[in-house]
Amino acid sequence: MISPVSLLRSCWPLLFFCVALTLSLTSPALAVPRWEAPDRVSQGRAFVVTVQDTKAHKGRKLPRLAVVWQGKTLPLTPVPVGKGGQGWAAQILLGVPLDAATGPKGRLPLKLICDGKTVSRTVEVLPVPWHQDRLSVAPRYVNPPKEVQSRIARDRKRTGRVLASFVPEQSWSLPFYRPVKGTVSASFGSRRVFNNQPRAPHRGTDLRGATGTPVHALAAGTVALAEDQYYSGNVVYVDHGQGVISVYAHLSAFDVKPGDRVERGQVIGKVGATGRVTGSHLHLGLLVQGVAVDAMPLCVSPLEVVGGPTPVTKRQPAKKGGAKP
Ligand SMILES: [Zn+2]
Repeated sequence: MISPVSLLRSCWPLLFFCVALTLSLTSPALAVPRWEAPDRVSQGRAFVVTVQDTKAHKGRKLPRLAVVWQGKTLPLTPVPVGKGGQGWAAQILLGVPLDAATGPKGRLPLKLICDGKTVSRTVEVLPVPWHQDRLSVAPRYVNPPKEVQSRIARDRKRTGRVLASFVPEQSWSLPFYRPVKGTVSASFGSRRVFNNQPRAPHRGTDLRGATGTPVHALAAGTVALAEDQYYSGNVVYVDHGQGVISVYAHLSAFDVKPGDRVERGQVIGKVGATGRVTGSHLHLGLLVQGVAVDAMPLCVSPLEVVGGPTPVTKRQPAKKGGAKP
């Protein structure tokens, strides 16, 4: 017969392992925070990553957090939540490029770094059947003359500077405010052929609106740029923090200047027909960590990360004037 003492002696390595495992699973210092991201996202869509630890950990410091997406390491700012503010939560908006690979190659790695520890997952990219838009514009907007090349280069440089900046504080919140009520005249991502010459896909959504219609900011933020550019005409860039930047192009008038703080829904300008246009409309762009994404799915709640762009609405034949793509 085996005595209890000898049983304990023979089983002590197993007991030691069980105690160590229990400690490692319950110790707050070693716990991996809960993080959520969609498993599948369509090309050209944005999605939210949330990280949180709502358990109270007395005296524990907020963790250092970052996600790695599309080759960029992006910091997250955790904020205290819960009873006594002892838990924390953080979120970030990321984007899938409209030309991201799909199928077997369409699994994009997403990493979370929490206090130096890394956990990984993948996001499967779903294809979107982008359609083609054939448009006619003034020839100088398809093959710009030599004298405007330096102006175009200057516009790109100034825009690039805005896109390269990263404001850590989050000012955006979902859903976004729809900037004008007008319907979609050209959807995000369509392959564009100007005067029979193929050009870059449409990195925005065109919304109908007569010249002078007020344009509202998608979310709170700071005006990063408000100027006249060759292709965009009068354009406003609003930086919403954490790499989220909205663009409002072809305006007839500005209601803000660079450096202004704007609130969600605040009027930032008026619809117009300046720059490369065929008629009065708002071109709405959204850049998330430098990736152009469809802004329209973010103007509704809940956010849907799978699907194609908001389809074009045919013009009402009774209504004359207004917007063209
Ligand atoms: Zn447009």
